[in-house]
Amino acid sequence: EDYFDEAKSSPLEHNNGVINSPKQLIRAALKKRVESIDHDICEAGEEDTFFVADLGEVYRQHMRWKKNLPRVKPFYAVKCNPDPQVLRLLAELGTGFDCASKTEIEQILKMDVHPSRIIYAQPCKTNSYVRYAAAQGVKQMTFDNTDELHKIKKFFPDAELFLRISTDDSASLCRLSLKFGAAMDTTQELLTFAKELGLNVVGVSFHVGSGASDPMAFWQAVRDARTVFDQAHERGFDMQTLDVGGGFVGVTFEAMASVLGQALDEFMPSNINIIGEPGRYYVASAFTLASHVIARRTIQQPGSLGKSYMLYLNDGLYGNFSSIMFDHQNPIAKVLRASESCYLDTEAVNDSADGIEYSIWGPTCDGIDQISKSIRFDHVLDVGDWLYFEEMGAYTKCSATRFNGFSDSHEVIYVASEQGAKALLGMN
Ligand code: PLP
Repeated sequence: EDYFDEAKSSPLEHNNGVINSPKQLIRAALKKRVESIDHDICEAGEEDTFFVADLGEVYRQHMRWKKNLPRVKPFYAVKCNPDPQVLRLLAELGTGFDCASKTEIEQILKMDVHPSRIIYAQPCKTNSYVRYAAAQGVKQMTFDNTDELHKIKKFFPDAELFLRISTDDSASLCRLSLKFGAAMDTTQELLTFAKELGLNVVGVSFHVGSGASDPMAFWQAVRDARTVFDQAHERGFDMQTLDVGGGFVGVTFEAMASVLGQALDEFMPSNINIIGEPGRYYVASAFTLASHVIARRTIQQPGSLGKSYMLYLNDGLYGNFSSIMFDHQNPIAKVLRASESCYLDTEAVNDSADGIEYSIWGPTCDGIDQISKSIRFDHVLDVGDWLYFEEMGAYTKCSATRFNGFSDSHEVIYVASEQGAKALLGMN
């Protein structure tokens, strides 16, 4: 018997186990892992949340990037998801890396990536990290204020500096220019000061905000960058590189890339190198998370015969669903396994046609730890069942905590729905 509802009706099940789509490959991996657990006698934690990562999806996103933004060399933003296999694949594919701290720089250098493929893209750095970057030969770094220039003069006067300018990020999910980026009326002063200190400014960087939705933000930012290139030229700097940051989202990528590409053609001659710092774009869709129903509370609806349920999972806002809090996401639960004993209980169906209503909660003590306020499924779900969530690759596990003693590191099962990715990673 098969209780994996989506897989049940998929061609995979009717095709002698032949897997013919990435989604089927992922579901098969989810199912295999869950089936391997004997829920009645397993070790404590064996039924913890886990991920299935499709490295083929990361590979496809890279090919899509190259097709749509051929001028822009991606420096993957490690903070978004520092998964070792993702980093290894990207290193093999030849991308650069945007690092925000000593640990991230160290993780990349350990893969034998040349320091010139790293940009330390954090305008307000720790002194000792700047010294570490200097010792490792990681020269490229950003700045946006005079205090940072003093720091760099003291600890790494040979650094190759990118002046980060602020952008109009009002249409993005996570605004970054509230915190970083020099206003356009301060850039001349900063460049003059950098010249006085004898520092080497080699480029401009910006970020239009993570989860950006207005392509014109790119247009405006590239135009502002052009102004700063001219200001730098007047002061004798030889600017060579523009860093267009991140902010790209899978569903709108082509539209964004098209406007960005036109802006680059308009404002940046072909001798200027262009790099970018995409994070979310590369990994969001590559990771699927499965979580186990650890408890259930039945709610008798007042004044009606119907019931609804509160489901408690072994992962929540303080864990991999940190993206709800920090990244303004709204992950959608899907049923992976509805247990054997739970057949549809018509009495429990709310508003009949719409299925049974659930709210979904994390495992900690805190009332804020809610994954979904209201969702309806056709199945009665109970303790021991499994849900899964797609699009869980960006800003999820990297910002998980250990609150209430729950683990912040979970198993990742790797699959690859692209031969190219398999070959690069030696997977079979
Ligand atoms: N670069 C910098 C400096 C960032 O702060 C971030 C995200 O916070 C990124 C790149 C990655 O952004 P995204 O994931 O939106 O592509």
